[in-house]
Amino acid sequence: MKLYNTKSRRKEEFVPLSPGKLKLYACGPTVYDYFHIGNARAFLFFDVVRRYFEYLGYEVTYVQNITDIDDKIIDKAMAENKDFHQIAQYYATAFLEDCAALGIAHPTHQPRATEVMPEIIALIKRLVESNHAYEVDHDVYFDTASLAEYGELSGKKIEDQKAGARVAENANKKHPADFTLWKKSKPGEPVWSSPWGEGRPGWHTECVVMSQKYLGETFDIHGGGIDLVFPHHENENAQARALTGKPLARYWMHNGFLNIEGEKMSKSLKNFFTARDILKEYDAEVIRFFFLSKHYRSPIDFNRELIQEAEKALQNFYQALQSVDVLNIPEHKLQDSEILQSEEDFKAAMDDDFNTAKALACLFELSHNIKNPQKSPASKEDSALMLLKLGKVLGFFQNLNVRLRNTMPDLSNQLIELILSYRNEARANKQWAVSDKIRDDLQALGILIKDNPQGSTWERR
Ligand code: AMP
Ligand code: ZN
Repeated sequence: MKLYNTKSRRKEEFVPLSPGKLKLYACGPTVYDYFHIGNARAFLFFDVVRRYFEYLGYEVTYVQNITDIDDKIIDKAMAENKDFHQIAQYYATAFLEDCAALGIAHPTHQPRATEVMPEIIALIKRLVESNHAYEVDHDVYFDTASLAEYGELSGKKIEDQKAGARVAENANKKHPADFTLWKKSKPGEPVWSSPWGEGRPGWHTECVVMSQKYLGETFDIHGGGIDLVFPHHENENAQARALTGKPLARYWMHNGFLNIEGEKMSKSLKNFFTARDILKEYDAEVIRFFFLSKHYRSPIDFNRELIQEAEKALQNFYQALQSVDVLNIPEHKLQDSEILQSEEDFKAAMDDDFNTAKALACLFELSHNIKNPQKSPASKEDSALMLLKLGKVLGFFQNLNVRLRNTMPDLSNQLIELILSYRNEARANKQWAVSDKIRDDLQALGILIKDNPQGSTWERR
């Protein structure tokens, strides 16, 4: 398998630290609001990474943190006159609910920053003791000049960082690139006791603590959105390097942005849709399909037409699966060479740095085979079983029973459309009794008609 490693800027052969095991860490949310559909891209992508390794037979330990102490959480708590803990608790619960609604499997471990405070303080203490960090007036900074490897992930060198440029100027720092490990609290802010007085940690230490706690000093893959490469991941890696002499992770994977009108979707630009709201409009699988139809490192534009295409493609899969009554096919070994080849093609695509767009093309081909069995010697049923198997690897078909019940065969859809067109004609001719009878008769069959100024729509109850 080849993975693009942000650190080397090229695709590398993936070799796990321990054969058959994958140790994966991806940064989770800062819980001060509902997460947006751009964040969902990151959460969904690493869910697919985890699922794919599991399908390959790896024993996966997947850790994702929840940042539940941060300036933004404190600001929101103050604005709403609440305790920071209340805000963090509320949005952490919302995060879990929305991830579940998106069909994201629960990570193996999901620790929160406030749960590991003694470990965070201990780590900072070790950095101070080994002269990789220094205290100024109850604040503690990482001394970037003390580490020759600083910049090894992002390629940024500390000499390039001018005071007042990317890093806010701070007279207490020895160098503008030095970053905060511990900060003394202002009045009214939450505090923890530490050797440097009462305060709280900066953002970059918690991920080192939580990843190493469950995955060891160096683990296989560290992930997140591309915006996290610098400074967050560079600074995580620097702390681990300073303490152990080893990099924090061997492979660094970063997903591209979800953009909106060419700009990154973000809270600060206020150009976002929450995942929660989008899920009111579209099924979770449609969102998953929309993201997977592009390579994870490419930017993707939030585009309703593309989302609707994803919706149609999924509908196509479900119709194919339903046409062979896939839930009732007895289990058996698949032997047809053409079908087994599609699994190989799927793997080859995924092994090429998670080319999910190409992997989806394999699913399309299977779906096509089901619908046009004469084109392929492979049997319809076996194609359906393979479609199901590979779709599940990408996280689809999680509610198969419900979906299949709601996906009617083509012909019934067409018949309903036909009946509806007669009813529209009756309505146009003001034949209200006829139109009402059609509506009531369809309703008795479980088909609900909704009339609106643009016309009538229908759905199954
Ligand atoms: P945050 O809560 O801001 O730390 O973000 C959580 C995750 O979402 C991180 O991995 C970010 O890199 C990622 N992320 C944030 N905005 C976007 C976006 N517009 N597109 C894709 N990923 C994003
Ligand atoms: Zn992190």
